[in-house]
Amino acid sequence: MKLLEATAKSLLAEGGLRVPVGELASSAADAAAIAERLGPCVVKAQVPAGGRGKAGGVVLCTTPAEAEVATSTLIGTLLGDHRVDEVLVEQQIDIDTELYLAFMIDTSAGMPMVVFNQEGGVDIEDNLGSLERRHLTPGAAIGSDMLDSVCHGLGVDGLDVRAAIEGLHKVFTSTKATLVEVNPLVVASDASIIALDAKIETDDSAPRVVDEVADDAGELTPLEQEAAEKGLRLIELGGNVAILANGAGLTMTTMDAVAHHGGQPANFLEIGGDAYTRAESALDLTLRQTGVGSLVVNFCGAFARCDVMTEGVVNAWLALSPDIEVFFSIHGTGQDEARAMVREQLGIEPYESMDDAIIAAVSSARLREHATQDGDEL
Ligand code: GDP
Ligand code: MN
Repeated sequence: MKLLEATAKSLLAEGGLRVPVGELASSAADAAAIAERLGPCVVKAQVPAGGRGKAGGVVLCTTPAEAEVATSTLIGTLLGDHRVDEVLVEQQIDIDTELYLAFMIDTSAGMPMVVFNQEGGVDIEDNLGSLERRHLTPGAAIGSDMLDSVCHGLGVDGLDVRAAIEGLHKVFTSTKATLVEVNPLVVASDASIIALDAKIETDDSAPRVVDEVADDAGELTPLEQEAAEKGLRLIELGGNVAILANGAGLTMTTMDAVAHHGGQPANFLEIGGDAYTRAESALDLTLRQTGVGSLVVNFCGAFARCDVMTEGVVNAWLALSPDIEVFFSIHGTGQDEARAMVREQLGIEPYESMDDAIIAAVSSARLREHATQDGDEL
């Protein structure tokens, strides 16, 4: 889901970033009244898509009358595929420099990363692939070396810009977004650092499913209910590849990757925190769901220790000896011990990359489905 700019900016402000003063308007008269209070302003169409500047959706206005005209022109029109219902009327900022800063999930590596560039603005959006990027440790705060290197890349340093980088990272982790992008992050003529635009994208399926289940405990399936009673959070999704991962972010990334490689996530069971001490229950619940054809175990440890989590799962696997295949991807703290455990006790080789583990799991689940169907026909 793509959040509207105004919503994204209020999250940024909560994270401590400075954003221009502004208000939403859904009529030309409202926009004029807001412009009257703000002075020179910018009228910005609120549609969940970028490139508004080039499409005429961002209008700099000097007077309330101009804001009124801009708003009546924009409201009701189509910008790309989206109808404009509202505009954000903001105080105009006197820009010195436009920078680019974003945090996103690199789905190919299954890792969060920071992307940054000394030049931001409407022209950079065609060249995002060429910008500097650094992977980050999932779940960890952004370290001072990383801050140094982002500041260096942005060509700006100081407490304000450091606070903006840390604040944006905090928004990225706390909203579990797949993307938070500020383009442009500007250095204003008075040297303040301001987020002039904001884009936040969240995972389409997972958070919604999680929220719906959390909002309405009455709709838990029997297995989900049983999990809840054991202090575990299981969400049944009905597909063929079961997923055990630590942390909601990594679980969602894993679900995305399963879908990307042609499988369907069977369920969502986050085994972070102390849940690994109940690994046997977790595994039992995950595998009792009908239609599960294989299991992916994806651990990425920063503070969480992969060896401890893996030990829980390996013991559970030995105790239950399920009749499906399991595919491990283990990275981070304690990975060598964890991989050795899987190798020695289960006699299987953990995968070097998350994608390879998932591709193998999807194919195993498919083979099993075919085998079962053939069996039925006999
Ligand atoms: P996008 O095109 O959808 O990404 O919309 P943005 O919010 O990024 O705005 C596009 C461009 O409009 C920015 O890169 C700026 O150059 C310009 N712009 C937006 N707000 C202001 C402002 O307050 N002052 C000035 N001078 N330019 C602005
Ligand atoms: Mn922009």
